[in-house]
Amino acid sequence: MKCPKCGKHEVSTGVCGVCFIAEHPPKVKPFTLTQSKDGRFQIKESWTKDHEEPLQYEIRKNLNAAHPLTVKKLVLTSSEADEKDVSWTANAHMDYLGHEHQVQLSGMAPIKGVITLEESRRAGNAYQAVLQLREPMLLDEIEKTYVSQVRKVQGGFDVYLISKSYARQCASNFKNKGYITVESTSHGGVKEGHEVTRLYIAVKKPHIEPGDILNVEGRTYMLLSLGSTSKLVDVANRRERVVSKPNIMKADVIAKRRELEEVTVASKSPRGVDVLDGKYQSRHFTGEYPLLKEGGKALLLRLNNLAYLLPPIE
Ligand SMILES: [Zn+2]
Repeated sequence: MKCPKCGKHEVSTGVCGVCFIAEHPPKVKPFTLTQSKDGRFQIKESWTKDHEEPLQYEIRKNLNAAHPLTVKKLVLTSSEADEKDVSWTANAHMDYLGHEHQVQLSGMAPIKGVITLEESRRAGNAYQAVLQLREPMLLDEIEKTYVSQVRKVQGGFDVYLISKSYARQCASNFKNKGYITVESTSHGGVKEGHEVTRLYIAVKKPHIEPGDILNVEGRTYMLLSLGSTSKLVDVANRRERVVSKPNIMKADVIAKRRELEEVTVASKSPRGVDVLDGKYQSRHFTGEYPLLKEGGKALLLRLNNLAYLLPPIE
């Protein structure tokens, strides 16, 4: 039968390849090329003199075609590089249900300049900064181009970086995610008359544990459990809430679990709870306390001249 869309091409099902490509044009996601100070371009983990091979590799990698189109071959037809960008055109040979179609593609890729490890070594700096990651997951977020060495240490990794400014950029990203970063410098001795200083940045998880009192978006909560999502209970209205890990890492700690006083729930009714403190003094709290049990423990938080009754934390 003829294609129902154009009425021109023979098809067994659906629309013809020409119509399909017109409706779902293959697209190349934006990408950048990485160039070293001595002019070479990065392709995967190595470096090459010309930009064509890395360019073709990136175009192919970032080319998206809608099913059932598949890319058979990609031919770079032209490319021109100046200091900042490479403009290019390419011809994609695609298969659509057994028929070949050619699609013209074009684009412009910014060139990002970096100092390679060899260049840095030649300049006498095997590394300029050390990120002391005490959260192993963060290793995946560091660009390999800047890494001179990774050492596994207790509780995480020491990542040796060839650039101080990149180390600071990482630290500021981690800080935005709620991690604590501590910066220091060390004097690494004198090399060819220059004093070598190195930057150390420790990246740690803020120490938050269940039972801690936190400020999240202006409200006060007790942390009930910590994980990929965390459970909180509002100290004022006792409502529970679930918060994602990045958000909990950003919370401010108002009080630590150990600062709360442990009390015993003497009696509980729908109207309120009576508790006994360590000196056997009784105290009444009105309202519902679904997380407390008669005869069980509870925690007392004193904050701004007010007292709040909170569930016990095992
Ligand atoms: Zn058609």
